[in-house]
Amino acid sequence: MSARPFVLDPLFQSTKAVPGVGPRMTKLLEKVAGPCISDLFWHLPVSVIDRRYAPKLREAQPDKIATLTLRIEGHFPPKRPGLPYKVKGTDGSGWIDLTFFNVKGDYLEVQLPVGEARMVSGKLEFYNGYLQMPHPDYIVTEEQKDQIPPIEPVYPLTAGLTQKVSLKIMRAALQRIPVLDEWLDPAHQQREKWPRWHEALQQAHNPQDEADLSPEHPARQRLAYDELLANQLTMALTRQNQKKQKGRELLGDDALFNKALSSLPFELTNSQKTAVEEIRADMRQPTRMHRLLQGDVGSGKTAVAFLAMIHAIGSGGQAVIMAPTEILARQHEKNVRAFADKCGISTITLTGRDKGKARKEILERIASGDANIVIGTHALFQEDVAFHDLALVIIDEQHRFGVHQRMLLSEKGNMSDVLVMTATPIPRTLTLTVYGDMDVSRLTEKPAGRQPIDTRLVSDERLEEVAEALQRKIDAKDRIYWVCPLVEESEKLDLAAAEERFRHLQQRYGERVGLLHGRMKPPEKDKVMEAFAKGELDILVSTTVIEVGVDVPEATVMVIEHAERFGLSQLHQLRGRIGRGSGKSTCILLYNAKVGEIAKKRLATIRDSEDGFYISEQDLKLRGAGELLGTRQSGLPEFRLAHPEFHSDLISTAFDDARLILDRDPGLTSPRGLALRTLLYLFERDTAIKYLRSG
Ligand code: ADP
Ligand code: MG
Repeated sequence: MSARPFVLDPLFQSTKAVPGVGPRMTKLLEKVAGPCISDLFWHLPVSVIDRRYAPKLREAQPDKIATLTLRIEGHFPPKRPGLPYKVKGTDGSGWIDLTFFNVKGDYLEVQLPVGEARMVSGKLEFYNGYLQMPHPDYIVTEEQKDQIPPIEPVYPLTAGLTQKVSLKIMRAALQRIPVLDEWLDPAHQQREKWPRWHEALQQAHNPQDEADLSPEHPARQRLAYDELLANQLTMALTRQNQKKQKGRELLGDDALFNKALSSLPFELTNSQKTAVEEIRADMRQPTRMHRLLQGDVGSGKTAVAFLAMIHAIGSGGQAVIMAPTEILARQHEKNVRAFADKCGISTITLTGRDKGKARKEILERIASGDANIVIGTHALFQEDVAFHDLALVIIDEQHRFGVHQRMLLSEKGNMSDVLVMTATPIPRTLTLTVYGDMDVSRLTEKPAGRQPIDTRLVSDERLEEVAEALQRKIDAKDRIYWVCPLVEESEKLDLAAAEERFRHLQQRYGERVGLLHGRMKPPEKDKVMEAFAKGELDILVSTTVIEVGVDVPEATVMVIEHAERFGLSQLHQLRGRIGRGSGKSTCILLYNAKVGEIAKKRLATIRDSEDGFYISEQDLKLRGAGELLGTRQSGLPEFRLAHPEFHSDLISTAFDDARLILDRDPGLTSPRGLALRTLLYLFERDTAIKYLRSG
């Protein structure tokens, strides 16, 4: 049962409802904007055509858009096929040819009758010394001059959708903008000098010059803010709903905790200590924990997770840790078991590979509570997986799970606490857009004793040299990752490149070169990975599958081909696979010799910093949020109007705003609250509104 206000109904109609839009056009519009009229509203111009230039013909400059008033002097049909039809016009100061290809003469005779005056607008060109205007965009009589817009917005186009048609459709669609009650705080709106919502939309669609297209323009800022506020309000409502859910007071067992702590082969870093304490404090609360543990690759999240699990087990419950891939689950198994075995805690692993009798035995141990810690993959979602008493759910997200999936697993528990771990240090503002419903602990320092990684930028003209130099590393018993280029999201091409490099390196180094790629079956992958970890392979050629991969302390060299094709955060994550042992590590970023200065500057950011948070901020500035993680599955919300790279202040403000709103009006029942409900519907956050009803 939806209670969407009627005033929004026109927005959720198909674009078919716009006059002049038929089935064919609907498809084109869906491609560039989306299926509904609201999608057209969010489809903002990307540039402008300025038609205000109206020179005398004598002074007219070529290559400019101009609007001219002409007397039509004569028609000159083409003498040969392939030549244009010409219509001569004058303004008394000079002459111009309006030229047309493939246009019928009789049509032009009607449009441009000899002896009459017409206004035309289009691009001026010089051809053989003659001024001409090929295919004017507008031909009107002087009475119709208002039909030529002085400034015309340009929308993203696609084959079959011309500027003229798209403009007409957009104009018609914009007629349907309703006036909605204001949801912004009046003081805030005034301070920012933002227009009302419907005015903001009109202004954003009617830029008066290039400057009006800037994300800094008040109209665009307001629209971006609305979208971000809808996002943050959704997060805040989710959070409010979660806080209402009863949790368990897990008090832990100090003796067990201290035993586990002292069995760790190292001292916790200060940020690990803080994170562990924040997590344990949450678990002791009678509400459910929803916490994010954010930390760079190698910052030691596993130890924190382990101590959180110890707290849950000390309280009599079980803990589960879920990884996005088989390899990672195995990695967790190895790491966690190394800690758990020392203090008599039992662990078990369940992945898609466990079948039949073996699987049944595992399920029994999970259901009986015999297994204290359960490690696994998506296989844990399956219905027949039942826990004895699941108290803590840890999800190693690494951006592979969606916001919703995260909750699925926790439903298997008995009011379980939830801890999400992420290794991608996304900027704080973006954290709010993805994890705004959670409390955040951050690991900001590296464990002591880590050596800095020596990162070098090397032109790929020197690839052979690099390949040759690996011999010295192999002689020193070091292991090498060789990462192959990412080819435009195409797994097939990635693979071809990796296979080629594999053969090439095999020719030089023989059988001790392995290949790992995304198309391999999990058992094959594991076999290769294991061989590399054991030292049976010296060089591991791979596509980016190792990104989320595996801990091999002896790996001290990483070569990344076509580094310029990767996002900085991605490179940083890849690089985090080396520098894990005590040996000195080197990362060689091979870049295409032809790349420009800007690309080299980007790569220099990676060379000069190992601070994942700093790198991700730079990456955001340079590339924009959508591309930040190099993949669509990033789990980041896709904003239509907001650009996190420009609007990070707005994100923080929206975050505070949303929390304040719910502090004052948790049920959104005040007049502003009702307007905010409309905002949520406007951005299709209907689920958030469900929370209001269920409370
Ligand atoms: P992450 O999961 O954050 O990428 P891990 O938890 O896998 O990092 O830790 C990386 C490595 O650092 C592991 O070998 C781990 O045992 C080690 N480690 C973790 N915390 C510390 C610490 N405080 N001091 C020294 N080594 C640590
Ligand atoms: Mg780890």
